[in-house]
Amino acid sequence: MQKDSNLIKTLHKIETKYCNLDHETGVLFSPDGKIIKEWIGTEDEIIIPSEDFKNKDLWESNILTHNHTRGLHFSPDDIDIFVNLSLAEIRISTPSKTYFSIIKNKDFNLKIYDEMLKDKVGSFSKGIELAITQGMTFNSKDFANKLYNLRIKHADDWFKNNADKYNYTYEKGKL
Ligand SMILES: [Zn+2]
Repeated sequence: MQKDSNLIKTLHKIETKYCNLDHETGVLFSPDGKIIKEWIGTEDEIIIPSEDFKNKDLWESNILTHNHTRGLHFSPDDIDIFVNLSLAEIRISTPSKTYFSIIKNKDFNLKIYDEMLKDKVGSFSKGIELAITQGMTFNSKDFANKLYNLRIKHADDWFKNNADKYNYTYEKGKL
């Protein structure tokens, strides 16, 4: 489905404004680009009150974007929200002015969340596993930085490679 041009514009505006914050902020949009609700969070998560979670109508077919202060990829919690609330799309913006997006297609497969956990998508332990496989040592120069990049690349590859299997559209780009 073609995205509403007002939605594209307002998403860009909000993501550019929030991508560098030191705490997460979540913004819920309607498909025609109106801001429905905004939540302020901590460095690592958006704080959404339980009455909002329970309000199914709030999420139905809408778009949630939020910033990841450390620039990491979708977390299992993000995908949990995406699967269990009737969102059409979930997005992240990062301090390096990039965005990631997942859009549900027809027959979207809810098993994505379990599979993501099983494959440890983008997790710290997966990063360590990959680093060891690639012969990196913990005392190597820039290890933390390389580990960080490995985690993001693993998640990026995973979401790219599994789009057909779980029926979603995966997109990333520059803000
Ligand atoms: Zn997130």
